[in-house]
Amino acid sequence: MSLNSDRIKAIIFDLDDTLYDCSGTLVLKSRKLAAKIISKAIKCSEIEALKLQLELEDRLGPKADIFHEIANQYNIPEDFCEEISNTINTLEVEGATLFPDTMASIDELKRIGHKLFLVTFGNREMQEKKIKALGLERVFDKIIITDNPLGKEKCFREILTKYDLEPEQVLCVGDKIKDEIEVGKKLGMHTALMKHGRHYNFYKSEITENAPYTFITKISDLLRDDENQ
Ligand SMILES: [Mg+2]
Repeated sequence: MSLNSDRIKAIIFDLDDTLYDCSGTLVLKSRKLAAKIISKAIKCSEIEALKLQLELEDRLGPKADIFHEIANQYNIPEDFCEEISNTINTLEVEGATLFPDTMASIDELKRIGHKLFLVTFGNREMQEKKIKALGLERVFDKIIITDNPLGKEKCFREILTKYDLEPEQVLCVGDKIKDEIEVGKKLGMHTALMKHGRHYNFYKSEITENAPYTFITKISDLLRDDENQ
Protein backbone atom coordinates (compact mmCIF):
# COMPACT_ATOMS: atom_id res chain seq x y z
CA MET A 1 0.00 0.00 0.00
CA SER A 2 1.19 3.49 -0.74
CA LEU A 3 0.96 5.54 2.41
CA ASN A 4 0.59 8.65 0.32
CA SER A 5 -2.83 7.53 -0.85
CA ASP A 6 -6.11 9.38 -1.30
CA ARG A 7 -7.74 6.94 1.06
CA ILE A 8 -5.72 8.22 4.01
CA LYS A 9 -7.32 11.32 5.46
CA ALA A 10 -5.69 11.46 8.86
CA ILE A 11 -2.45 10.40 10.53
CA ILE A 12 -2.01 9.67 14.21
CA PHE A 13 1.60 10.05 15.31
CA ASP A 14 3.30 8.76 18.40
CA LEU A 15 5.91 11.12 19.88
CA ASP A 16 8.88 9.38 21.57
CA ASP A 17 11.20 7.57 19.15
CA THR A 18 8.80 8.33 16.31
CA LEU A 19 9.26 12.08 15.78
CA TYR A 20 12.58 12.38 17.62
CA ASP A 21 15.29 10.19 19.12
CA CYS A 22 14.07 9.64 22.68
CA SER A 23 16.08 6.47 23.41
CA GLY A 24 19.41 8.03 22.46
CA THR A 25 18.85 11.35 24.22
CA LEU A 26 16.31 11.69 27.04
CA VAL A 27 16.17 8.03 28.08
CA LEU A 28 19.95 7.92 28.29
CA LYS A 29 19.98 11.20 30.23
CA SER A 30 17.40 9.82 32.68
CA ARG A 31 19.43 6.62 33.11
CA LYS A 32 22.44 8.76 34.03
CA LEU A 33 20.37 10.70 36.58
CA ALA A 34 19.09 7.42 38.04
CA ALA A 35 22.66 6.08 38.14
CA LYS A 36 23.59 8.75 40.69
CA ILE A 37 20.91 7.50 43.10
CA ILE A 38 21.54 3.81 42.39
CA SER A 39 25.30 4.14 42.88
CA LYS A 40 24.75 5.57 46.37
CA ALA A 41 22.13 2.96 47.26
CA ILE A 42 24.12 -0.11 46.19
CA LYS A 43 27.60 1.35 46.69
CA CYS A 44 29.01 1.15 43.20
CA SER A 45 30.27 3.66 40.65
CA GLU A 46 27.82 5.64 38.51
CA ILE A 47 29.17 3.89 35.42
CA GLU A 48 28.42 0.49 36.97
CA ALA A 49 24.95 1.72 37.96
CA LEU A 50 24.33 2.83 34.37
CA LYS A 51 25.56 -0.52 33.04
CA LEU A 52 23.30 -2.38 35.47
CA GLN A 53 20.24 -0.50 34.17
CA LEU A 54 21.15 -1.14 30.53
CA GLU A 55 21.74 -4.85 31.16
CA LEU A 56 18.43 -5.21 32.97
CA GLU A 57 16.59 -3.45 30.17
CA ASP A 58 18.32 -5.65 27.58
CA ARG A 59 17.22 -8.74 29.46
CA LEU A 60 13.75 -7.74 30.69
CA GLY A 61 12.65 -5.39 27.94
CA PRO A 62 11.90 -1.69 27.71
CA LYS A 63 8.66 -1.94 29.67
CA ALA A 64 10.16 -3.59 32.73
CA ASP A 65 10.29 -1.61 35.96
CA ILE A 66 14.02 -1.89 36.37
CA PHE A 67 14.16 0.30 39.47
CA HIS A 68 11.87 -2.07 41.36
CA GLU A 69 13.96 -4.90 40.02
CA ILE A 70 17.12 -3.29 41.44
CA ALA A 71 15.35 -2.54 44.75
CA ASN A 72 14.36 -6.23 45.02
CA GLN A 73 17.76 -7.55 44.01
CA TYR A 74 19.62 -5.37 46.49
CA ASN A 75 17.02 -5.25 49.26
CA ILE A 76 16.60 -1.51 49.10
CA PRO A 77 13.54 0.12 50.71
CA GLU A 78 10.71 0.99 48.29
CA ASP A 79 11.11 4.78 48.59
CA PHE A 80 14.26 4.37 46.48
CA CYS A 81 12.04 3.93 43.40
CA GLU A 82 10.04 7.00 44.29
CA GLU A 83 13.21 9.05 44.67
CA ILE A 84 14.33 7.94 41.21
CA SER A 85 11.02 8.71 39.50
CA ASN A 86 10.83 12.12 41.18
CA THR A 87 14.33 12.87 39.96
CA ILE A 88 13.63 11.65 36.43
CA ASN A 89 10.53 13.83 36.28
CA THR A 90 12.75 16.88 36.74
CA LEU A 91 14.77 15.92 33.66
CA GLU A 92 15.62 18.91 31.49
CA VAL A 93 14.29 18.38 27.98
CA GLU A 94 15.58 21.62 26.49
CA GLY A 95 17.83 20.87 23.56
CA ALA A 96 15.73 17.92 22.38
CA THR A 97 15.38 18.12 18.62
CA LEU A 98 13.15 16.44 16.06
CA PHE A 99 14.58 14.03 13.49
CA PRO A 100 15.93 16.24 10.66
CA ASP A 101 13.04 15.54 8.25
CA THR A 102 10.18 15.54 10.77
CA MET A 103 8.96 19.13 10.59
CA ALA A 104 9.21 19.49 6.80
CA SER A 105 7.38 16.16 6.36
CA ILE A 106 4.63 17.17 8.77
CA ASP A 107 4.22 20.50 6.97
CA GLU A 108 3.93 18.69 3.63
CA LEU A 109 1.44 16.12 4.98
CA LYS A 110 -0.66 19.02 6.23
CA ARG A 111 -0.36 20.88 2.96
CA ILE A 112 -1.69 17.91 1.01
CA GLY A 113 -4.72 17.88 3.26
CA HIS A 114 -4.18 15.33 6.02
CA LYS A 115 -5.52 15.89 9.48
CA LEU A 116 -2.68 15.26 11.92
CA PHE A 117 -2.89 14.02 15.50
CA LEU A 118 -0.36 13.38 18.21
CA VAL A 119 -1.19 10.72 20.81
CA THR A 120 1.49 10.15 23.40
CA PHE A 121 1.77 8.12 26.57
CA GLY A 122 3.66 9.27 29.66
CA ASN A 123 3.76 11.64 32.59
CA ARG A 124 1.64 14.62 31.46
CA GLU A 125 3.99 17.32 32.66
CA MET A 126 7.00 15.62 31.05
CA GLN A 127 5.22 15.02 27.72
CA GLU A 128 4.06 18.66 27.68
CA LYS A 129 7.62 19.82 28.27
CA LYS A 130 8.87 17.67 25.39
CA ILE A 131 6.14 18.89 23.01
CA LYS A 132 7.05 22.51 23.82
CA ALA A 133 10.82 21.93 23.54
CA LEU A 134 10.35 20.20 20.18
CA GLY A 135 8.22 23.06 18.84
CA LEU A 136 5.17 20.84 18.27
CA GLU A 137 2.58 22.78 20.29
CA ARG A 138 0.73 24.24 17.32
CA VAL A 139 1.50 21.65 14.68
CA PHE A 140 -1.32 19.13 15.16
CA ASP A 141 -5.09 19.31 14.85
CA LYS A 142 -5.22 17.71 18.28
CA ILE A 143 -2.70 16.52 20.85
CA ILE A 144 -3.75 13.88 23.37
CA ILE A 145 -1.54 12.82 26.30
CA THR A 146 -2.52 9.70 28.22
CA ASP A 147 -0.86 8.48 31.39
CA ASN A 148 -2.61 5.12 31.13
CA PRO A 149 -0.29 2.51 29.55
CA LEU A 150 -3.34 0.98 27.86
CA GLY A 151 -4.89 4.35 27.08
CA LYS A 152 -4.11 4.75 23.40
CA GLU A 153 -7.07 2.68 22.22
CA LYS A 154 -9.49 5.04 23.95
CA CYS A 155 -7.68 8.05 22.46
CA PHE A 156 -7.81 6.55 18.96
CA ARG A 157 -11.53 5.84 19.30
CA GLU A 158 -12.13 9.41 20.47
CA ILE A 159 -10.38 10.75 17.36
CA LEU A 160 -12.43 8.50 15.04
CA THR A 161 -15.68 9.69 16.62
CA LYS A 162 -14.87 13.36 17.05
CA TYR A 163 -13.45 13.83 13.55
CA ASP A 164 -15.91 11.48 11.87
CA LEU A 165 -13.24 9.21 10.44
CA GLU A 166 -13.44 5.58 9.35
CA PRO A 167 -10.52 3.47 10.63
CA GLU A 168 -9.40 2.73 7.07
CA GLN A 169 -8.98 6.48 6.47
CA VAL A 170 -6.46 6.67 9.29
CA LEU A 171 -2.77 5.84 9.35
CA CYS A 172 -1.20 5.18 12.73
CA VAL A 173 2.56 5.78 13.01
CA GLY A 174 4.69 4.66 15.94
CA ASP A 175 7.70 2.71 17.17
CA LYS A 176 5.90 0.30 19.49
CA ILE A 177 4.63 -2.91 17.92
CA LYS A 178 2.94 -3.87 21.19
CA ASP A 179 1.23 -0.54 21.61
CA GLU A 180 0.09 1.87 18.91
CA ILE A 181 0.71 -0.53 16.02
CA GLU A 182 -1.33 -3.40 17.50
CA VAL A 183 -4.02 -0.99 18.69
CA GLY A 184 -4.24 0.68 15.28
CA LYS A 185 -4.46 -2.74 13.57
CA LYS A 186 -7.14 -3.91 16.00
CA LEU A 187 -9.27 -0.88 15.15
CA GLY A 188 -8.79 -1.44 11.39
CA MET A 189 -6.40 1.44 10.73
CA HIS A 190 -3.38 1.41 8.45
CA THR A 191 -0.18 1.23 10.44
CA ALA A 192 3.45 2.19 9.91
CA LEU A 193 6.17 1.01 12.26
CA MET A 194 9.06 3.41 12.80
CA LYS A 195 12.23 1.32 12.97
CA HIS A 196 13.90 3.25 15.73
CA GLY A 197 14.73 3.06 19.40
CA ARG A 198 14.75 0.67 22.31
CA HIS A 199 11.20 -0.68 21.88
CA TYR A 200 11.69 -1.46 18.21
CA ASN A 201 15.12 -2.99 18.89
CA PHE A 202 13.81 -5.23 21.66
CA TYR A 203 10.89 -6.62 19.67
CA LYS A 204 12.33 -6.62 16.16
CA SER A 205 13.34 -10.29 16.33
CA GLU A 206 9.61 -11.14 16.58
CA ILE A 207 8.78 -9.36 13.34
CA THR A 208 7.99 -11.75 10.53
CA GLU A 209 8.51 -11.05 6.87
CA ASN A 210 4.81 -10.80 6.19
CA ALA A 211 4.10 -8.51 9.14
CA PRO A 212 0.80 -6.70 8.59
CA TYR A 213 2.25 -3.21 8.77
CA THR A 214 4.45 -0.95 6.70
CA PHE A 215 7.94 -0.07 7.87
CA ILE A 216 9.44 3.37 7.83
CA THR A 217 12.84 4.62 8.94
CA LYS A 218 12.01 8.32 8.72
CA ILE A 219 8.85 10.43 8.64
CA SER A 220 9.45 11.53 5.04
CA ASP A 221 8.93 7.87 4.01
CA LEU A 222 5.23 8.64 4.48
CA LEU A 223 5.41 10.96 1.48
CA ARG A 224 6.80 8.37 -0.89
CA ASP A 225 4.55 7.30 -3.74
CA ASP A 226 5.99 3.89 -4.50
CA GLU A 227 4.66 0.56 -3.31
CA ASN A 228 8.04 -0.71 -2.10
CA GLN A 229 8.23 0.83 1.32
MG1 LIG B 1 7.15 5.88 21.02
